[in-house]
Amino acid sequence: MLKQVGGYTKYPLVKCIIGIINTYNFFNRISCKSTMNEIKELIKESQEKIFSGTGISSDDVEKLFNIPDEYVKELAIAANEITRDFNGNKVDIEQLNNIKKNACSEDCSFCGQSAFFDTGIETYQLPTANEVVARANKAKKEGAQSYCLVAAWREPSTRDFEKVCNIIKEVNDKVGINVECSLGFLTQSQAKKLKELNVKRYNHNLETARSKFAEICTTHTYDDRLKTLQIAREAGLELCTGGIIGLGETRKQRIELTLELAAIEPEEVTINILVPVPGTPLELQTKLSNIEIVKMFAVTRFLLPESVIKISGGREINLDDDGEELLQSGANGIITSGYLTMDGNEAEKDFEMIKKIGLEI
Ligand code: SAM
Ligand code: SF4
Repeated sequence: MLKQVGGYTKYPLVKCIIGIINTYNFFNRISCKSTMNEIKELIKESQEKIFSGTGISSDDVEKLFNIPDEYVKELAIAANEITRDFNGNKVDIEQLNNIKKNACSEDCSFCGQSAFFDTGIETYQLPTANEVVARANKAKKEGAQSYCLVAAWREPSTRDFEKVCNIIKEVNDKVGINVECSLGFLTQSQAKKLKELNVKRYNHNLETARSKFAEICTTHTYDDRLKTLQIAREAGLELCTGGIIGLGETRKQRIELTLELAAIEPEEVTINILVPVPGTPLELQTKLSNIEIVKMFAVTRFLLPESVIKISGGREINLDDDGEELLQSGANGIITSGYLTMDGNEAEKDFEMIKKIGLEI
C-alpha cells in the first residue's frame, strides 16, 4: 500500500498528484478494512454454524482454505475453540507397532516400505505375540490410550491374518489397551473377525485427493481404499482415515481430500505430513509451508468437530515446535514414541509439551 503523502508544495501539478495519491490511499484503506471484516465475519459465521449444528458448506470450506495468510491465526483460534468445546482438553495418545516391515507389493510413491523402491529399510515378518505384548505393555505404561498394529502389505494372507488375530487376543488378555489395526485391504469376514476380537478402530488412509491418487499409486485405486473403509464400517468397527499432505498436491486437492474425509464421518482423522524417504520418488519433494499445514488441521476441525484429529507421521521433521501450534489449531491427538520406519519423540518429551500448553493426557 502507498504511504500517506503530505506537506507543503508550491507546484500545482505536484499538489494534484499528491491529492490523487492521498485519495487512493483513503479508498485503499477502506477496501482493506472491509476485506478484513469480511474474512473475520467468514471465520466467525463458520464457527457459529458448527456450534449451532448446521455445519459448513463446501463453499465455506473453499473460502476458509483460501483466506490470506495473515488471518490464519484467527482461523486456528476458532478451530481450537471448536476442539475444546466438543472434545475438552484431553489429547489422544497413540503408539504404533509396525508388525510387518517393508517389501510391500504396492507402489505408493511416498512409502519407504514399497518393494518398488530401494530405501535400505530393514525387512521383517510378523513378530511373536509375546514380543507384541511386551511392547504394548510398555506403551500402556508410557500413557498411550491406544496401540495400533500396522502391516506393510496390500492385504493380509489367510495365514498371516490368523497370526495377527492371535496377537490381538494376547494383547487383549494380557495388556488391556485399546487395540487398533491397519492391515491394508480387508474382506468382510476378516473385518467381522476383528470386531469380534474387540478391535476398536480400523485405520485405512485415503492418502490424497481422488484427482491426485493415480499419480501416487498405480497398483490399487481410490475406490479400493474406500471399499475397505466401507467393509470395516459395516462390520461395526470405528474408522480412522486420513492422508498425507505435502505430496505435491495443490491446495484445491487438499480441499478435495478434506471433503472426502468429512463425507466418511470417521471417528478419527489421521493427517501425516510427508516424510521424504530417500530412495522413494518423493525424496526431494519441497516441504509444505507451516501456514498450509495449519489450514489443513483447522478446516478439518470445522468439518469434523467431534472426531479425533491426529498429527501423525512427519510431525517432528516438518514442524519447528513438534506440533504445539497444531494442538491449538484443531488437532487433538498425536502418535508418540516413533513411527513405522523412523524414530519420533520420546513419550515423556511429548507429555511435557502437552502440559506446557495447558492440555491433558
Ligand atoms: N499398508 C497399509 C496401507 O497402506 O493401508 C497399512 C500401513 S501404511 C504403511 C500406513 C500409512 O503410513 C500410510 O497409509 C500412509 O498414510 C503413512 N505413510 C507411509 N509413508 C509415509 C511417509 N513417507 N510420510 C508420511 N506418511 C507416510
Ligand atoms: Fe504398501 Fe501401505 Fe506402503 Fe502403500 S502405504 S506401499 S500399501 S505399506
